Amino acid sequence: MRRLAGSDPFANATKQVNDACDIMGIDDAGMRDYLATPNRLVRVKIPVKMDDGGIRVFTGFRCQHNNDRGPYKGGIRYFDPEGGEAYMEREVMALSSWMTWKCAVVDIPMGGGKGGIYVNPKKEKLSEGEVERITRRFAFAISEVIGPEKDVPAPDVYTTGREMEQIMDVYGKMNGNRQIPGVITGKPLVAGGSQARNVATGLGTVYCVREAARTMKVKLRGAKVVLQGFGNASIFAGEYLEEEGARIVGASDSKGSVLVPRGFKVDRMIAHKQKTGSVVGYPGSRKVSAEELLTEKCDVLIPGALENQITAGVAEKLRCRIIAEAANGPTLPEADPIIHGKKILVVPDILANSGGVCVSYLEWVQNNIGYYWTFKEVAEKMEAKITKGFHDTLAISKKHKVDMRRAAMVLAVGRVVDAFKHKGIWP
Ligand code: NAD
Repeated sequence: MRRLAGSDPFANATKQVNDACDIMGIDDAGMRDYLATPNRLVRVKIPVKMDDGGIRVFTGFRCQHNNDRGPYKGGIRYFDPEGGEAYMEREVMALSSWMTWKCAVVDIPMGGGKGGIYVNPKKEKLSEGEVERITRRFAFAISEVIGPEKDVPAPDVYTTGREMEQIMDVYGKMNGNRQIPGVITGKPLVAGGSQARNVATGLGTVYCVREAARTMKVKLRGAKVVLQGFGNASIFAGEYLEEEGARIVGASDSKGSVLVPRGFKVDRMIAHKQKTGSVVGYPGSRKVSAEELLTEKCDVLIPGALENQITAGVAEKLRCRIIAEAANGPTLPEADPIIHGKKILVVPDILANSGGVCVSYLEWVQNNIGYYWTFKEVAEKMEAKITKGFHDTLAISKKHKVDMRRAAMVLAVGRVVDAFKHKGIWP
């Protein structure tokens, strides 16, 4: 899902579905409608006693887009987007649609969901107790629509393993006081979480980069890599690429962007950022603009921070061979044809950052069977899913002569249509 300022996110999500239908020759308006529209949107009232003794009523959402391939899956965010609650409703609808396609592209037997509460706990400086009471009351309010075989939420913006554990606790107590860890993922290890969850997104991106490099005949040993951002997704992508012998030459954060021509070690950059609060000022680095960072000559560019970074103007100046979108929606739609025209291979976000949802799925499987795998076992299972997702997408890209972004959507929509056709409509 690519969000454009001021636009309706759900309209954008719907357009992506329709674009895929165009390529696939799905003309039936009813079928298109079925694929685009969420199955259910739940909006709940969350009354909470605040620390000052007063009562506040928050609004929560859970949107369940499609479950033809398995239980709904997707995050719960605590956020206050600019457009208010009405915008948030459209946003969770769009994000749930996008989760359907993300799960389908890597063939995870789950569907798409998304939810959240219209609140910004950081901005409002809510206490731990207030956040816990909000979380538990929200869990109570949605407990009828979630469950290991129904809908399995996960952390998202401003939610962590702690909130996931609280939701699991409420759900279990509401359902006969049972231990039901498979109701939610992203839990701490002690509460039934999975190995490899913290590195999953970055590691998944690297599996994609490795396959993209083979396809483009780029040698990863000695390859020049630029990271945009220096957070969870980009740091682990950088670390695993370093293991493959690549040279990381650029990074950025909210304070600025830097290029280090001779390359830097990711752990040294982490230490520098911990000491100074930013990647800026790293010894031997040159401060550059965001555009200069993105358009530096390199083999692999990993946008791993924000949406809407690669505009048409930036795309014209790109000098990389592979882009792996660790972030969600870093490329604007008008940039895609330009990038495709330059023969740069783009691994689209729904594939390049699917490592997170892959490990979420594997956490759910471990919870359901009550047996826990090692880091290596989890990583290998994720690698198989993502590598196959990459090659399935590449094959469609060649067959339909479309870029990898469109190919990934065609693959995902095709898989959902298949599942739907097998089940049909009942009642
Ligand atoms: P994070 O908060 O750990 O890191 C974000 C990074 O972006 C930080 O280094 C921050 O300083 C940097 N940043 C912020 N403003 C910036 C600016 N103006 N210019 C350059 N950098 C800036 O977040 P994350 O979890 O790494 O997520 C990054 C992206 O990856 C998001 O789009 C997110 O949706 C996506 N993603 C993350 C995961 C995951 O599991 N972490 C999974 C799927 C997708």
